[in-house]
Amino acid sequence: METCIGMDLGGTKLLLGEVDENGKILREMTVPSGALSQQEALVLMRESLAAFLAQPVGSPAAVGIGLVGRVDSRSGTWFEIDRERTEPTPLCRLITEGSALPCFADNDVRSAARAELCFGEGQRSRDFVYLNVGTGIAAGIVIGGRLLRGAHCNAGELGHSSSGLSPGLPCVCGRTDCVEAIASGLGLDRCARRLLPEYPESALSLPVEGRVSAGEIFRLSGEDPLCARLTEQAATALANLIMNVVRFCDPDCVVLGGGVVADGFLLRRVKEKLGKHTMRFVSGGVRLTELDGRRIGLLGAACNAMEGMRGSL
Ligand SMILES: [Zn+2]
Repeated sequence: METCIGMDLGGTKLLLGEVDENGKILREMTVPSGALSQQEALVLMRESLAAFLAQPVGSPAAVGIGLVGRVDSRSGTWFEIDRERTEPTPLCRLITEGSALPCFADNDVRSAARAELCFGEGQRSRDFVYLNVGTGIAAGIVIGGRLLRGAHCNAGELGHSSSGLSPGLPCVCGRTDCVEAIASGLGLDRCARRLLPEYPESALSLPVEGRVSAGEIFRLSGEDPLCARLTEQAATALANLIMNVVRFCDPDCVVLGGGVVADGFLLRRVKEKLGKHTMRFVSGGVRLTELDGRRIGLLGAACNAMEGMRGSL
């Protein structure tokens, strides 16, 4: 049985999986990663892949990778993990040298969108948006069955759209008032820290290290005015973003993934804010992914390999 290997490099771990043509993950392996440079990440991926390939279930035909940063899926070049430091790395060539398997790579969110295209919403529609709301906010935009890539492999960075809610709120991208700075996991944490002095009675406790969980903010939003404000502005920012992208590309459906929306709480609040007229053609609505949210990146990485072997990446 022919299979593909997927490698999904996230902020804290590298997930490897062997996936069959139906999208079934036959076996998987998790390797802790932590914050890495591109070179360190490359070493980790090569070593982990060699260990993983020692015991295949089927016959792996190719390796697919999904990772943070800008990736040229045509040349297999990984440009950066840190937006401040571009270090073009011939990722796929180096993985092929180490494994003797063809290798195909793409950005993590576009990879998850490709999983949705191959095994999720793509079964029903050729025009949809996969919107990831996690540490950051970005999207894979599928138009006519093709994922939008852009001239510089940077299409879909929708988190850096103006929300209209917080003029002057700085964002890591250099603009102000970005949706990502309000509604992403990182944005919620930063907004909570910025607004906490205005709410000395707040029950929200902010960790000294790491981030406050979005789920904790949502859980307290019924009684705690700070959490109510954070939740309200995140829902409004996301609803505005979704309506903007609907106007831009006329999708059948907007599929949400990522840790911030995984429990469904924020989606319920977002739906209350969507305008009927704007959303009237979005027959599939706005919904959570039906794929396993913790493995959609891994599945997407394997889909990069499958599509790459078909010549359609
Ligand atoms: Zn921004």
